[in-house]
Amino acid sequence: MADLPTFASNRQPHLNARLQGFGTTIFAEMSALAAKTNAINLGQGFPDTDGPQEVIEAAVAALRAGHNQYPPGPGTAELRQAIADHQARFYGLATDPDHVLVTTGATEALTATMLALCETGDEVLAFDPTYDSYNAAVSMAGARLRTVTLKPSDDGRFSFDHDLFVSLISAKTRAVLLNTPHNPTGKVFTSDELNLIADCCRQNDLLLITDEVYEHMVFDGVHQPPAGLDGMAERTITISSAGKTFSVTGWKIGWAIARPDLLTAIRTAKQFLTFVSGAPFQPAVATGLVLGDDYFDGLTSQLRHKRDLLGDYLERSGFDVYQPEGTYFTMVDISPVSDLDGIGFCLSLPERAGVVAVPAQVFYEDQSEGSSLVRFCFTKRDEVLIEAGERLQATFG
Ligand code: PMP
Ligand code: GLN
Repeated sequence: MADLPTFASNRQPHLNARLQGFGTTIFAEMSALAAKTNAINLGQGFPDTDGPQEVIEAAVAALRAGHNQYPPGPGTAELRQAIADHQARFYGLATDPDHVLVTTGATEALTATMLALCETGDEVLAFDPTYDSYNAAVSMAGARLRTVTLKPSDDGRFSFDHDLFVSLISAKTRAVLLNTPHNPTGKVFTSDELNLIADCCRQNDLLLITDEVYEHMVFDGVHQPPAGLDGMAERTITISSAGKTFSVTGWKIGWAIARPDLLTAIRTAKQFLTFVSGAPFQPAVATGLVLGDDYFDGLTSQLRHKRDLLGDYLERSGFDVYQPEGTYFTMVDISPVSDLDGIGFCLSLPERAGVVAVPAQVFYEDQSEGSSLVRFCFTKRDEVLIEAGERLQATFG
């Protein structure tokens, strides 16, 4: 079995108290394990092919045309306009480009938002399992993440206890942090759920911070941005990024959309984190955002096909498979094929099957709630998914 990774890290003597307990991210650990063992990497969420040629060429052209110095602080006017137009085109949300801030990925948008809008002692309410940067960002801001767990129900969909959610709201609650489509469960929050969350925000004067990086990966139905719900535009910080939509996860161009006073606060924090973001990539992302519907529809249908391709292999391998409604990922319960917990299972998987996956338990506040759940990424070439699927089926099927 591979060496025990350091993500469940012990106390680090030189690390600030706010970051104690946050070791190396699970994604870095598992990608390193894949490289070391030469296994197929279905762990970290990134595609193994480049995004659309027009978008790549636009970045090359921007580099050659001298877009190599600091761009404007809020982002280029062209990209902010393209982001605003994207909100209008896909969701009918009239958006002023002055209400858009370009960031270094959604990660920076999330962290800058927490640093800018939370006071020490504030609470941010989110849905477990949470994407790993949430807890760290909230903690860096001196605030505290409170979570309600998404649990699989009999129909295989993940849902949450509404009363518990409401009961966690108190005078300390500053914001709800909502990721839809949701990593790692693949859940797309329903209209009823979104309305409940929005009602709670309005009634308790809370901000809603949304992470919509998988907005173009909804396999049934359409993505519903929470900012579009009644009275929510003024209290929502809408966050997304280009990484997933254009298969350029290494470019790290993201954005936040919010009313001007909130956005100014977020920009104040962003200025001192990175100042500005990726000059030559901004025109390229603007090119991507105005691509035709064929591009966006094609992306969704390709990923739907990949979800089904890997999902069938996972079923045949004997896992309990939770069919994702969106995202890059399929969650499975490993209990039918293994007595190990997810961490033990994922550490032994390269040796047993030549495949790397991610143990979902590390995304839970109470790890026991996700101890038998493992996440597989399906944004890989079909031949890679087939090879990984064959290996899993030969090992466990
Ligand atoms: N939120 C979620 C839910 C993610 O899965 C990711 C990874 N793409 C991010 C945020 C970070 O996005 P970015 O790479 O644009 O910083
Ligand atoms: N969002 C990607 C995932 O969930 C990974 C991003 C990262 O490595 N930080 O796998």
